[in-house]
Amino acid sequence: MPINVLVTGGSRGIGRATAIACGARGWSVGVNYMNDAAAAEATCEAVKKAGGEAVMIKGDVSKEDDVLAMFEEMDKRGPLNGVVINAGINATSMPLADMSVERMRKVFDTNVLGAYICAREAAIRLPAASTAGQSSSIVLLSSAAARLGSPNECVDYAGSKGAIDTLTIGLSKELGPKGVRVNAVRPGIIDTEIHASVGDPARLDRIGNQTPLGRPGSAEEVAEAIVWLLSPQASYVTGTNIDVTGGR
Ligand code: NAP
Repeated sequence: MPINVLVTGGSRGIGRATAIACGARGWSVGVNYMNDAAAAEATCEAVKKAGGEAVMIKGDVSKEDDVLAMFEEMDKRGPLNGVVINAGINATSMPLADMSVERMRKVFDTNVLGAYICAREAAIRLPAASTAGQSSSIVLLSSAAARLGSPNECVDYAGSKGAIDTLTIGLSKELGPKGVRVNAVRPGIIDTEIHASVGDPARLDRIGNQTPLGRPGSAEEVAEAIVWLLSPQASYVTGTNIDVTGGR
């Protein structure tokens, strides 16, 4: 049965790899992005080349109106039965004592409020897919930071991902009786542009090389866990959190 999936922040990094992995399974993908239309377009092309269908959907996940419009766009494409709540940001490394409220607000608005609004819209729609006998699943992007705390780097970001862990537990209990599975994936140090976006591209190898597996991970390695959780093969898995961290 083809799966109709929305991937927030699907244009680059882990979201892009996830969209392409969905395409390779013949699934239909909504590729959400906020700024970089060229990246979203390239990802949609890659999804189609892999064997799936794709549509790019612009929208800021921290803005309710944008999220409503994004889900309405997905509704036009048939019943939604997968949502990957992936869009997220980090900010420049510093101790909490130096952080401005503006910075913390931006991180929490995107990573927490954005995820909660998207999860709410998914919770409204996905039970119908389950009732129709289809696989119905939400996957949220947490981070190893949620259990490590990220001292002197980004305790705000780490806390925002702690909220994702808690949302995963609570929502899995709300939606389990409606046949909707809710899980999270907790990446470690993964080779995407998020590290450069906070001004520290060297962080990738500096920390990645210290993991038990001795290297950073790839977006594709995270995508495999996400796509498995979305798939009917994970039919008895809910309320869990899969670490993809190279053992860190
Ligand atoms: P990335 O390469 O920086 O890509 C971020 C994606 O999110 C882009 O598609 C971006 O679109 C989109 N985005 C950002 N803010 C948005 C917003 N407000 N509304 C809609 N889209 C937005 O990031 P990534 O490394 O793939 O990270 C993906 C997720 O994994 C995040 O939740 C991150 O916290 C988590 N994670 C990553 C790592 C890692 O090491 N990479 C580790 C742990 C967890 P535009 O380009 O259009 O802005």
